[in-house]
Amino acid sequence: MNIIFLGPPGAGKGTQAQRVCDALKIPQISTGDILRKAMKEGTETGLKAKSYIDAGQLVPDEVIIDIVKERLAQDDCGNGYILDGFPRTVPQAEALSGFARIDSVIELAVEDQVLVNRLSGRRVCVNCGATYHISMLNGRTDCEKCGEQLIQRNDDKAETVLSRLEVYHAQTAPLIGFYTEKGLLHRVDGDQGLDKTFDAIMSTLGAKA
Ligand code: ADP
Ligand code: ADP
Ligand code: ZN
Repeated sequence: MNIIFLGPPGAGKGTQAQRVCDALKIPQISTGDILRKAMKEGTETGLKAKSYIDAGQLVPDEVIIDIVKERLAQDDCGNGYILDGFPRTVPQAEALSGFARIDSVIELAVEDQVLVNRLSGRRVCVNCGATYHISMLNGRTDCEKCGEQLIQRNDDKAETVLSRLEVYHAQTAPLIGFYTEKGLLHRVDGDQGLDKTFDAIMSTLGAKA
């Protein structure tokens, strides 16, 4: 199954994509993770992306489309995948139609007030990318999975969070209509517990954990 996870920053796309990918044994393709890795390694793409990401803006379509096209051509994508954070604009979705056949789009719906709290409390592992929320960490500052340090992402600082939400409503939310017209969109309430949200996604996909 080729699946898209759509939703505002902080909706839980990364958290749930990881769980669903583990259950279905398919790769999670997170464009945010790919871009952060490129930034860390100081590649040309990384350098280009940094100013956009730090400002809470989207990186240009042509940059991200090429990255995804190359990634989907790799062998491990043959049995399906979850796109987490792509597409984010209508031109990206149109380009994707040219090189992938999408079976299902899961929209994780969460209100803006909840998102601000989730994003400002998000902590990520510098090493493995695991995601946590300060409310669940009980003061812990290292990663439960690999022991490395947890940090706050630069673009999760309060001043950037609001521009990211604006960008979502202006540039990404139109994809809800785009995929509804194609009969692919499934809306899931993302403002419930982690397990309930996971169960709702799995039953929407008609999959068993
Ligand atoms: P996204 O990938 O959509 O930006 P994340 O999966 O990184 O979202 O989650 C954003 C933040 O919200 C993280 O701190 C995560 O721990 C927390 N979170 C995710 N899902 C839930 C949930 N269902 N309830 C409460 N907090 C959540
Ligand atoms: P979140 O999990 O909070 O939704 P991501 O980790 O997916 O954020 O993305 C972080 C940043 O990387 C975005 O704010 C944007 O600048 C850039 N980015 C990620 N995916 C895309 C995309 N498909 N198109 C353009 N920019 C992207
Ligand atoms: Zn880790």
